[in-house]
Amino acid sequence: MPDKSLLISELFYSIQGESTHAGFPCVFIRLSGCNLRCRYCDARYTYESPHAIMSLEAILSFVDGYPDIMVEITGGEPLLQENAYPLLEQLLAKGRKVLLETNGSLPIDKVAPEVIVVMDIKSPGSGMAESFAMENIALALQRNHQLPGSCEIKFVLTDKNDYIWARNLVNQHCLAVHTPTLFSPAKGKLDPADLAAWILHDKLPVRLQLQLHALIWPHLTRGV
Ligand code: SF4
Repeated sequence: MPDKSLLISELFYSIQGESTHAGFPCVFIRLSGCNLRCRYCDARYTYESPHAIMSLEAILSFVDGYPDIMVEITGGEPLLQENAYPLLEQLLAKGRKVLLETNGSLPIDKVAPEVIVVMDIKSPGSGMAESFAMENIALALQRNHQLPGSCEIKFVLTDKNDYIWARNLVNQHCLAVHTPTLFSPAKGKLDPADLAAWILHDKLPVRLQLQLHALIWPHLTRGV
């Protein structure tokens, strides 16, 4: 693969749907490949379908078509590709607000502090709970201490057991006090009304997050 190129699953323009920045227009750079296999994965095409090889310049040129719009690098797992780092840096250098979605299995210590990291902590129901890089909790808290809002933590939950597990982790590390913390129901597995009721009952100061793009475009599985 040529230097400074990346394996790309898709580039698209849509509404950000899974963070405290949900609702804003966003340019998405979806990188190919993932090291996990979550039971509820809705992006299998990122590791099962063919990818494109694109130069950094070509990707930035696509982003340039949407001036002043927030940019998100997602996957798959973007941090598997070393060239994700120069891409993040170039986007920041262009003055863009940049989000990075990561599955939490790789350390986030090399990600520039100005990037807004949206990091999953995989629950037992995902089948991938063992994958979480525990040092990322301290790194997330440290990022938010230095630059508030620079790391959000997201739990995708499949059932009550997942909820209790996540609640215990949030309480143990005072996550919701120090970092934006999102609880999201796995689509088709957990009723959002149940999750809302548990959060309210426990007076847990986390944000209930529904996948906004899935609500707007329920029949589309790619490009949103
Ligand atoms: S980390 Fe994301 S892309 Fe990878 S298997 Fe899990 S849900 Fe799918």
